[in-house]
Amino acid sequence: MAINFSELAVEGVRSLKPYQPGKPIDELARELGLNESDIVKLASNENPMGPSPAALEAIRQETAELHRYPDGAGFVLKKTLSDKLNIRSEQITLGNGSSDILDFIVRVFVNDGDNVVVSQHAFAIYGLVARTVGAECIAVPAKDFGHDLEAMLGAINDRTRIVFVTNPNNPTGTWNTQNEVVEFLNRVPDNVVVLLDEAYFEYVDEADYPNGLELLDQYPNLVVTRTFSKAYGLASLRVGFGVSSPELADLMNRVRPPFNVDSFALAAANAAMLDEDYVRESVALNNRGMTYLTSAFDELGLSFIPSVGNFISFRVPESVSAMDVYSGLLKLGVIVRPLANYEMPQYLRVSIGTEAENETFVRALKKVLA
Ligand SMILES: *Cc1c(COP(=O)(O)O)cnc(C)c1O
Repeated sequence: MAINFSELAVEGVRSLKPYQPGKPIDELARELGLNESDIVKLASNENPMGPSPAALEAIRQETAELHRYPDGAGFVLKKTLSDKLNIRSEQITLGNGSSDILDFIVRVFVNDGDNVVVSQHAFAIYGLVARTVGAECIAVPAKDFGHDLEAMLGAINDRTRIVFVTNPNNPTGTWNTQNEVVEFLNRVPDNVVVLLDEAYFEYVDEADYPNGLELLDQYPNLVVTRTFSKAYGLASLRVGFGVSSPELADLMNRVRPPFNVDSFALAAANAAMLDEDYVRESVALNNRGMTYLTSAFDELGLSFIPSVGNFISFRVPESVSAMDVYSGLLKLGVIVRPLANYEMPQYLRVSIGTEAENETFVRALKKVLA
């Protein structure tokens, strides 16, 4: 008799739906019979500048050693990170993308029957990793689309192991101030881990935006994650990291697969970290694009959620459905991100692209809405 393997799967996995990434360029090209070069992908908050030339050169220098396992300890990258970020190597956990760190922290601390607390409209991966291990994911209603840290404190109970705070949040682009984050950390129970996801840290230029790394000494229950996928332009290579007390890093390293970051990723991330001009230019390009897109939304009478990231979510007029606008844009070769999965069915998220990509998007949007 045929075995029903779904019934054999652990309970948390049975009800999961796979993470839905942005639509890949080659997939849309196949579907529409278009050239890949005619497609504009603004769906995954990738760096539109392309990778740093220094990162490409670092990869070239690694190719002769591809038969070797990578440095499982990531010595060189950790050394660079510790110098640049004023942290110690023992505080760092390297991940195959920062998503890997989210998985590690859950596997270290969360048992079947425990829970984690997130904000409504938060990044989908937190719930996925928590539910995989049989935990409940408590989503706290957002305030003006942002994290309501006060309400998140109120949702913590004696089965809560981790609170996920995304600063700024994706897909809303909202952020919490230094005072809000510190007040929150002061009041979270000492035995509850706070994972502060700073995937878009480099883009934020607000005076009272906190640097999570500077809070680590005071809060031993804090883990900060950063990534090379966004401002550092290396999304494909999958490399990110967590920073915490050495004790938490040691625990996460116990569940980390020994060679989770490959040698290209290690070398490229190291070079990208040292290429400060690249990051500076990426941020400047993003700021110009953000100004351009928000004025275009104003001109079109579309409301949007003010964002400090490299993306912005805007509201589609009531007269049309966001999915129709999404599909209309696809037909014109422009990929954005629908947000129904984030309880924002009337919104679309667009990543800030190059000047030309932003203009193509605005032209296409005007056409679709006309
Ligand atoms: C993009 C993103 C990440 C980074 O994911 P990687 O696995 O490092 O590519 C993490 N958190 C949020 C909120 C993000 O939007």
